[in-house]
Amino acid sequence: MSPGAAQPLRAPGPAAKGALRLVLGDQLSDSLSALQDLDTAHDLVLMAEVFDETAYAAHHKQKFILVFSAMRQFAERLRRRGANVRYIRLGDPGSGPSLVGEAMRAAADGDFARIVLTEPGEWRLKDAFDAFAALSSTPVEIRADDRFIASHETFRAWAAGRKELRMEFFYRLMRRKTGLLMDGEEPAGGRWNFDVENRAPPPKGVRPPARTGTPPNETTRAVMMEVEAQFANNFGDGASFAYPTNAQEADAALEAFMTAVLADFGTYQDAMLAGEVSMWHARIAASLNIGLLDPLDVCRRAEAAFRSGRAPLNAVEGFVRQIIGWREFIRGVYWLEGRDYKTRNALGAVRALPDFYWTGETDMRCVREAVVATRDHAYAHHIQRLMVTGNLAMLIGVHPDEINAWYLSVYADAFEWVELPNTHGMATFADGGVVGSKPYAASGAYINRMSDYCGDCRYDVKDRLGPKACPFNALYWDFLINAEPVVGKNPRMAMPYRNLARMDAADRAAIRAKAETLRAQFGARRRDGS
Ligand code: FAD
Ligand code: SF4
Repeated sequence: MSPGAAQPLRAPGPAAKGALRLVLGDQLSDSLSALQDLDTAHDLVLMAEVFDETAYAAHHKQKFILVFSAMRQFAERLRRRGANVRYIRLGDPGSGPSLVGEAMRAAADGDFARIVLTEPGEWRLKDAFDAFAALSSTPVEIRADDRFIASHETFRAWAAGRKELRMEFFYRLMRRKTGLLMDGEEPAGGRWNFDVENRAPPPKGVRPPARTGTPPNETTRAVMMEVEAQFANNFGDGASFAYPTNAQEADAALEAFMTAVLADFGTYQDAMLAGEVSMWHARIAASLNIGLLDPLDVCRRAEAAFRSGRAPLNAVEGFVRQIIGWREFIRGVYWLEGRDYKTRNALGAVRALPDFYWTGETDMRCVREAVVATRDHAYAHHIQRLMVTGNLAMLIGVHPDEINAWYLSVYADAFEWVELPNTHGMATFADGGVVGSKPYAASGAYINRMSDYCGDCRYDVKDRLGPKACPFNALYWDFLINAEPVVGKNPRMAMPYRNLARMDAADRAAIRAKAETLRAQFGARRRDGS
């Protein structure tokens, strides 16, 4: 239903007192601005599972389970607080396909003085609710989402007049604003960033701590069966679902990470090991993004671990930077760059996404590891996303629409405000350098250094052109050749282009031919058929 289409929009009656309050599926926080002045005697809280939200991306089964189970439990939590909740399940008789439609239906069924919501987290829904607000005779109040540390105004003010937006400088502002890891005016330990001590390759024989995940509770188990029945053809394995689905479970999972894993987070942040899904990562993005955890609270707890000597500064600073630095910066970029951000294609990428992104059927061990983790857990850690699947998509030249849609579909934590700048900016440089100062392009050598994948791979990581040559190698050099007009003068790319300059014409031709053969083998056809 489009705004204004089917339901009457009437003005509040003279007796109207209460508010209709909307809570969306990624707004499951007690502190949500739309609930801050909840009047349980007069207000109605509306929550709805609707078709449009299930269909805007080809969601992983575990994402459905996560969001529906968490929504249902949050509705119960509100009811226990005394709130009157109208909860629409997917396909309930009389329900409509859209959130705006459900808001109009609830508004028409009652008599409300106002409709209140917290701003949605993406342009698609923001535009729909803005249009609704413009048409509605009942006043609609759209409040800022203050679960984030930087408001839109803060980010815009910081970005204004800068030639380049660099996360590192924004991060310092966030440190000062929150006081996290600050000793007075100075950063704890005398430095803002401890990355020189981080990002070590995985040492031989060391394995990450065992992680158990969160066993599905009763609500989750019921939702798992529904999702299996209704979304049988969607990507992913629903049966291995192990995400927290309420605030208590999320809190327990975070505590387990803080106790057993955080201390080595920084050191092994970029490492990859075969068969290890979580490595030393927190696995909290899904909980953060739907509101079960509060980012500032998570960071304060990490800081407490440092201050009490339970975790070193390099780990805690690195962890806090991901949340108040990267996460906030990425969101700022999403809203600052506007609706057409996703239409940019700075590198002129034109290829289709290879099928192995969905099936995992490839001899490239690094890619198989990432896709299998993704299929089984709706998760892959940052370096797999960035340096394996993202890097490969950029080297192949996959069109931004295809690779963006894949990332938006396959992760439980994927919501457009955070998925898009990471994919379109950081991983594939399709935005031309808004998020990253250079493409994160890498050959097999990087993956070999940071993982144990290559030893047992069918391909030879040291070879560039032979039948068993690691595909990342020829594709990397071919990428440099293709991207030279766009990034060849970038000072941060000086070293790779110096190396490319040493390559003679015959070598270049061989690289190009090999890269084309690989693209053909991968089924990465040109989308325009040329
Ligand atoms: P950890 O490594 O333990 O980090 C802790 C937290 O820091 C994360 O939970 C997350 O909230 C935050 N964080 C770390 N890096 C980033 C980042 N680059 N951007 C934003 N937040 C960050 N993150 C999502 O939440 N949703 C996405 O859809 C998403 N898509 C991505 C796509 C690509 C191509 C890339 C390269 C990254 C993407 N990220 C996304 C960022 C990051 O990979 C995930 O947040 C992280 O892997 C989640 O796992 P974790 O909770 O174990 O994170
Ligand atoms: Fe990946 Fe190449 Fe290493 Fe195989 S050899 S795991 S394809 S980087």
